[in-house]
Amino acid sequence: MAKKTIADIDVKGKKVFMRVDFNVPLDEECNVTNDRRIQMALPTIKLALEKGARLILASHLGRPKGERDDKFSLAPAAKRLGELIGQDVKMAPDCIGPEVEAMANQLKDGEVMVLENVRFHKGETKNDAEFSKQLAGVAELYVNDAFGSAHREHASMYGVPSVLGPGKRVCGFLIEKELQYLDQALSNPTKPFVAVLGGAKVSDKISVIENLLGKVDRILIGGGMAYTFFKAQGYEVGNSICEEDKLEVASNLLSSAKTKGCELVLPVDNVVTTQIKSDAEHTINTGNIEADWMGVDIGPETRKLFADKLADAKTIVWNGPMGVFETPPFDAGTKAVAEAIAVATDSGAISVIGGGDSAAAVAELELEDRMSHISTGGGASLEFLEGKKFACLEILDDKE
Ligand code: ADP
Ligand code: MG
Repeated sequence: MAKKTIADIDVKGKKVFMRVDFNVPLDEECNVTNDRRIQMALPTIKLALEKGARLILASHLGRPKGERDDKFSLAPAAKRLGELIGQDVKMAPDCIGPEVEAMANQLKDGEVMVLENVRFHKGETKNDAEFSKQLAGVAELYVNDAFGSAHREHASMYGVPSVLGPGKRVCGFLIEKELQYLDQALSNPTKPFVAVLGGAKVSDKISVIENLLGKVDRILIGGGMAYTFFKAQGYEVGNSICEEDKLEVASNLLSSAKTKGCELVLPVDNVVTTQIKSDAEHTINTGNIEADWMGVDIGPETRKLFADKLADAKTIVWNGPMGVFETPPFDAGTKAVAEAIAVATDSGAISVIGGGDSAAAVAELELEDRMSHISTGGGASLEFLEGKKFACLEILDDKE
């Protein structure tokens, strides 16, 4: 069921509590070094202000330990928001309390304030009932546009909409778009549906593979986790990253794929090196990997094979780089797969990229515009791919 959005409700003159993800990186002088997350929330913020809401923005930033810690203040994010919307943004001294409520009550239509970091209070991550009530404070409506936190039942994500009750809680455009793409890919994909999975560890992605086995036509596996599958098939993997305690899981996934008629494609060649350094000796390897050598990227034949397996795809989900892409030349496999996904998208496929490192790789390659959707939530998108339900989203009002 689709969720109601801020476009569906009347916010004029109302105090709107909007949970955003302003968890932006800061430098030592507390300057925002990357404002992508603020930018992503702008469509919802701008519409609320245009419609005359009295906007109260809430977010977490970093991991303060439930108490005030100035290096995690949201003030720099509020300042940056002000620059982006060309309007005065008031910064609250805290996220709860009489002073904050007074500030909220003084807001005029179309004005905006930012609450201080909700994680300055222990009640946030505990979804504490009393803290949720205080946070909901003077708010009349609730909007959630923080997809990156959707898998966390914290007070600002779950407690506040619980306090406000049905008919008063909707999502913003960022969450609407995430749900549209992720949900459509998983529950109603146009076939062939191909998943590309990589990254360092199998253990991070077991549930994703299990959930996708019944849904996709093919799974292409690259990255460090391929070596656990190789070892499970009886190959030597040398120094490659390999989870000995997951060999049985890998074998079971291989046979489960067969039973379910899902094609599970492993690399046919690998780039191997003796150390993860740009200038380290490296070569292409097939079959057993010798002691002292480690696999750090998919090889050229695998790049061709994966591109071929992606060519006819109509739905693509990608999570996890194909190699140690932070260290060129071991980024070549990830580049090749990103390019193949972009080409398939050009010819009509829906492509959804999840995972922080995969999104970073796509950004670095300047392929963002050629993908259908790049998820803003690393952990959240992974849990979505695992088939988990998100209570923080379920609680929001359904479209009529
Ligand atoms: P995402 O953030 O997109 O979900 P992950 O966090 O699961 O991706 O994985 C990214 C990490 O996996 C990167 O730091 C990358 O260096 C690492 N990785 C990929 N291939 C290998 C490999 N063959 N050996 C070691 N690490 C690898
Ligand atoms: Mg990662």
